[in-house]
Amino acid sequence: MKNSPTPRPVRAEFLKSAQSINDSVEESLSEVVFLGRSNVGKSSTINLLAGRKNLAKSSATPGKTRLINFFDVGYKLGEEDYTVRFVDLPGFGYAKVSKSLKEIWQKNLVEFIQNRTAIRLFIHLRDARHPHAKIDEEVERYIHSFLRPDQRYLTVFTKADKLNQKERGALLRDFPGAILISNLKKSGQERIQQEIFHTIFGAEF
Ligand code: GDP
Repeated sequence: MKNSPTPRPVRAEFLKSAQSINDSVEESLSEVVFLGRSNVGKSSTINLLAGRKNLAKSSATPGKTRLINFFDVGYKLGEEDYTVRFVDLPGFGYAKVSKSLKEIWQKNLVEFIQNRTAIRLFIHLRDARHPHAKIDEEVERYIHSFLRPDQRYLTVFTKADKLNQKERGALLRDFPGAILISNLKKSGQERIQQEIFHTIFGAEF
């Protein structure tokens, strides 16, 4: 069989929706946390990364979205099998600037994010058209305020298809470590997979 240079999703399983750290799944695998404003394209991104159409539910779907959703995603890289746990956090709304992040996010969620040992990577999804949204800048600062040495923070800009080439170049100059993706065009997802594998398994691409 031909060796693939990028991880290829081969399995995906929904595990559980949890309200807090207390009813979460046990910490056994390395976890990747996805967070972002409602409607940023979080579920589209997760579904593309997992190779499944309807694994994660859009924030437009009533119900599911106030919960922490856990998925196990199986990848093949060359001949090897790997499993990564995805943790899909509730999307945060278009909050009023006067509200602090802790008012917007429930205490439960803050506790979860800060205390869960298995988290190795935070993927912060941001709209490429609004790179300096206040709430996102606050989230970035907040995550860096407790980020451990074994954890990484990654900015992923969604909806890259809404920018022209010049705007895309300018955005990446402003955010040198960021990844630009389009779920519509299905572009950029392999870069995220490589980041996940690099962070969790130390894989080089
Ligand atoms: P969520 O609420 O963050 O889970 O966002 P969804 O994945 O449900 O996406 C919200 C809306 O944005 C849907 O209408 C998607 O089709 C659209 N969307 C998501 N990603 C992209 C993208 O990269 N480009 C464009 N143009 N639309 C996108």
